[in-house]
Amino acid sequence: MTIFEESKKYIPGGVNSPVRAFGSVGGDPVIVKSAKGSKVYDENGKEYIDYVCSWGPMITGHADPDIIKAVKDAADLGTSFGAPTKAELDIAKKICSMVPSVEMVRLVSSGTEALMSAIRLARAYTERDKIIKFEGCYHGHSDSLLVKAGSGALTFNQPSSPGVPADFTKHTLVAQYNDIESIKKLLAENKGEVACILIEPVAANMGVVLPAAGFLEDLRRVCDDEGVVLLFDEVITGFRLAAGGAQEYFNIKPDITTMGKIIGGGLPVGAFGGKSEIMKMLSPDGAVYQAGTLSGNPLATAAGLTMLNKLSQPDFYKNLRQKADTLFDGMADNCKKLGLDYAYNRIESLSCLFFKDGTVTSFADAMKTDTKLYAKYFHAMLDRGITIAPAQFEAMFVSAAHTDEDIEKTVKAHYESLKEIV
Ligand code: PMP
Repeated sequence: MTIFEESKKYIPGGVNSPVRAFGSVGGDPVIVKSAKGSKVYDENGKEYIDYVCSWGPMITGHADPDIIKAVKDAADLGTSFGAPTKAELDIAKKICSMVPSVEMVRLVSSGTEALMSAIRLARAYTERDKIIKFEGCYHGHSDSLLVKAGSGALTFNQPSSPGVPADFTKHTLVAQYNDIESIKKLLAENKGEVACILIEPVAANMGVVLPAAGFLEDLRRVCDDEGVVLLFDEVITGFRLAAGGAQEYFNIKPDITTMGKIIGGGLPVGAFGGKSEIMKMLSPDGAVYQAGTLSGNPLATAAGLTMLNKLSQPDFYKNLRQKADTLFDGMADNCKKLGLDYAYNRIESLSCLFFKDGTVTSFADAMKTDTKLYAKYFHAMLDRGITIAPAQFEAMFVSAAHTDEDIEKTVKAHYESLKEIV
């Protein structure tokens, strides 16, 4: 019996997070034993060049020696205290210095938790109940955010999972990404009732879809006009597009920011922060309750602070962009050479190739991609020793550990894979 077959007996689906199971591409997942730099190694010792990067966090590469050392040093001093530490102050100061709109921050243990808490805060701050999210944006698996958007319907939405009472999602309204009119319509229909608009400033959970010129600016403006909290979910874009995330990249300040992934250097960390005026409403300063036994955990803060210090080094993002440009330009060239007009969305070290002609600028466009062809592409790349996300509606991540040789091999494998499947 393989490890995966046996895992299925003890763990639902054999995995601790669904998309890992290769459900949409078929086949059994690679069982990872270890990882180092740009590579992951399976249980049989087979090496892969990895562009999953743990779904985003590993921006300096796997098993980064500086981060591993920081975690080991911290572990020697104790793994959890349930009391304040200086390390929490250090990382909080660092986050506030890096992320433009964040004046105060609270640490949690996952992106889901960050979003869940941030929304409670936005609701308390505005004394309103409704929230608006965008179809195709993912904000973790908490009840009120796990809402399926019915095709194009801009109405109250149905929960996307059994076990979520419709009553829990009735305050969640769904708008269309890159369509400011859909927001204006919802705000007009729900005048004075919307607490917060939450958005992935670059959508990276429907594949990668970039904000249209002026879209984020328009959002900021309507939020100001209507007294609505603008929440940037920077769990993916934070510390990825720039040291200060999408808000630095696009020069737009949200009121609340949620963070995760990179901020923990590969350990379980999330965070939410924003204006002091809002953040001070949190318990014990204010009445909004939010807590966590392992929040600000010493191993996690050690890893996170080491990561953030590395990202603050001069030229980190410039060097990363150069690698990404070489890879993504190479992949775009391959498509051209093969006469393929596939939509290929890219920003900094984040990209997504859609198996759909033309452009993808909306959720509806993204849904037109040929997921069966993506599955073939995925396996063709895997056969050539390259791991990309085992699902179309995800991002490809480049890390600082990817070498010129890795990138050259990847561009070649990409060409051969496309040639084989199309
Ligand atoms: N927000 C975004 C934008 C995400 O991509 C994710 C996870 N992929 C989350 C929130 C949830 O984070 P976590 O999986 O750490 O709970």
